[in-house]
Amino acid sequence: MPSSTTRLPSSLQPLNNLAGRVVTPDDSNYDQTRAVFYGGIEKRPSAIVRVANVDDIRRVVAAARDEGYELAVRSGGHSIVGHSTTDGGLVIDLREMSKIDIDPTARTAWVETGASALHVTRALSEHGLVIGFGDSGSVGVGGITTGGGIGFLVRKFGMTIDSVIAAEVVTADGRHLRVDDEHDPDLFWAVRGGGGNFGVVTRLKFRLHELPRFTGGILILPATPETIAGFAAASVSAPEELSTIGNMMPAPPLPFLPAEVHGRLVIMAFMAFAGSDAAAERALAPFRALAMPIADMVKPGPYVSMYPPEDPSYRPTAVGRTMFVDSIDASSAQLIYDYLSTSDATMRVAQLRVLGGAMARISSDATAYAHRSRTMLVNVAAFYQSEADREVRKTWVERFFRALQPTDDSAYVGFLNDDGQARIRGAYPGATWDRLVAIKSAYDPTNLFRLNQNIPPRG
Ligand SMILES: Cc1cc2nc3c(=O)[nH]c(=O)nc-3n(C[C@H](O)[C@H](O)[C@H](O)COP(=O)(O)OP(=O)(O)OC[C@H]3O[C@@H](n4cnc5c(N)ncnc54)[C@H](O)[C@@H]3O)c2cc1C
Repeated sequence: MPSSTTRLPSSLQPLNNLAGRVVTPDDSNYDQTRAVFYGGIEKRPSAIVRVANVDDIRRVVAAARDEGYELAVRSGGHSIVGHSTTDGGLVIDLREMSKIDIDPTARTAWVETGASALHVTRALSEHGLVIGFGDSGSVGVGGITTGGGIGFLVRKFGMTIDSVIAAEVVTADGRHLRVDDEHDPDLFWAVRGGGGNFGVVTRLKFRLHELPRFTGGILILPATPETIAGFAAASVSAPEELSTIGNMMPAPPLPFLPAEVHGRLVIMAFMAFAGSDAAAERALAPFRALAMPIADMVKPGPYVSMYPPEDPSYRPTAVGRTMFVDSIDASSAQLIYDYLSTSDATMRVAQLRVLGGAMARISSDATAYAHRSRTMLVNVAAFYQSEADREVRKTWVERFFRALQPTDDSAYVGFLNDDGQARIRGAYPGATWDRLVAIKSAYDPTNLFRLNQNIPPRG
């Protein structure tokens, strides 16, 4: 039913009678609707438009452009920086647009970008098919895919963008384009890794992968300098069917962990093996041999079980930094151990993702994600409790980051914080940046889509 929006101020009258709902500060569900994943981001949009279709999106884009509103685009709301909300502007909220059309015979699917990774993974699992997203089921398809997508299947099937074969995009001038290798190929190239800079991606067509057997789950090992270095080395030499995400952190008070382990430094690892049960056992053996596991819940099962239920009211407040590193040798493992040991943040983490495999076989100029040959991605983060605490944690994170990666600005855009222009350039090195700027200048010359890791058009 079209929303009755006669109460809207005159500058928002263009949003009258949309198919979706317009939520403004006068609505009782405003606070709930404006909330994003991270706590500490308390922006107050003039209107959040829960768009129902492409026409709604085009009308909000036009209203923002013509009335001079700042425009935010939201799918899952997990932006680390709060880019999917705005103070005083308009939010295109895609959560109602989450339709998934699967063609099991062709092994393709059209997915509306407001769907979550879990929603899509669950729908595909009924057909024994997968797309690799990230490590969180509640992340939106729109944000993770436009950024790149590095997750549990990255070594086996590549990044999320490596499975995208077409996209539909509403551009700043209101056109709704279907783009692929033949149609607007530059725009198609840019939306695979260039983030939300080029328009609102409304649907994505994915190539789907068969996954007849899967082994995965959490492996918890004691963290020592030796096990940290051993975990990194074993992840590098593992077959590419195995992708690992190792979180070096104090053990949280999980019900399956004995009380004496709570708070002790552990490697909480997500292990994901896309292949036969016997091959999984062989690939996992070197990890299990690093130390007596504190918990070992890695077992054959459906891939969707990698996404456990999440508490929708969970809104962490955290500061973090991301980087690529070439290796974690004994001295960097010692450094990680020492940094984690000396902080007293309730939660602090060094997260290690070993890359390679299928993602590295794609040419670095095939998509806007250019760092195909980097071996490892490391995120360091700490939770904070108050604004004063935030400064303490930020200083620790900054020192930790500089100690591990003193010189290199290169980054994966999906994990960038508010790190400044040099690091956005670092996400898009050399010719990638030049091409992105040219495409931005062609499709969004006034930088309407600027709430993102921004690639400004030519001035
Ligand atoms: C808990 C957590 C875990 C994560 N794990 C991983 C991981 O394992 N792997 C990984 O690669 N990343 C991961 N990320 C990073 C995540 O992919 C990015 O933060 C991503 O932008 C979130 O997407 P979203 O749709 O949920 O976010 P939103 O906040 O809704 O959107 C973020 C930005 O993406 C752009 N955007 C979103 N939707 C669209 C669209 N439809 N069209 C155009 N632009 C759009 C906009 O610029 C928007 O500001 C994680 C983030 C969190 C918070």
